[in-house]
Amino acid sequence: MSADCLFCKISAKKIPSKIVYEDEDVFAFEDISPQAPTHILLCPRKHFISLDHATAEDQAVIGKLQLVAAQLARERNLLDGYRTVFNNGAGAGQSVFHLHLHLLGGRPFRWPPG
Ligand code: AMP
Ligand code: ZN
Repeated sequence: MSADCLFCKISAKKIPSKIVYEDEDVFAFEDISPQAPTHILLCPRKHFISLDHATAEDQAVIGKLQLVAAQLARERNLLDGYRTVFNNGAGAGQSVFHLHLHLLGGRPFRWPPG
């Protein structure tokens, strides 16, 4: 828990959010400014900033974020495909500095991403 972290406050339910999945390791909630019909953020309960700050002990939870994203994508019938994205660092578009995986789906996606 980092006292001034928005996503730690969401994890502790000190700030309201639309939680769509949670367990002891991870939580997932609707993005407040969705960039696709489905836009969910998945976070570890443990506060760390980005992949650049992850250590070997975070390996399992980083994988779990991807597998929970796949489960949510199946539940939402994102049959045409979906995208999972970590933005690492401000230069890649990161604006909240608690690691989170974006799950985006429900519209076509271009490659390369912007
Ligand atoms: P990033 O730019 O990769 O750090 O992603 C941060 C995401 O958090 C953005 O997509 C924001 O729309 C989203 N966001 C910011 N504040 C909230 C909030 N209170 N509840 C839900 N999502 C939020
Ligand atoms: Zn945090």
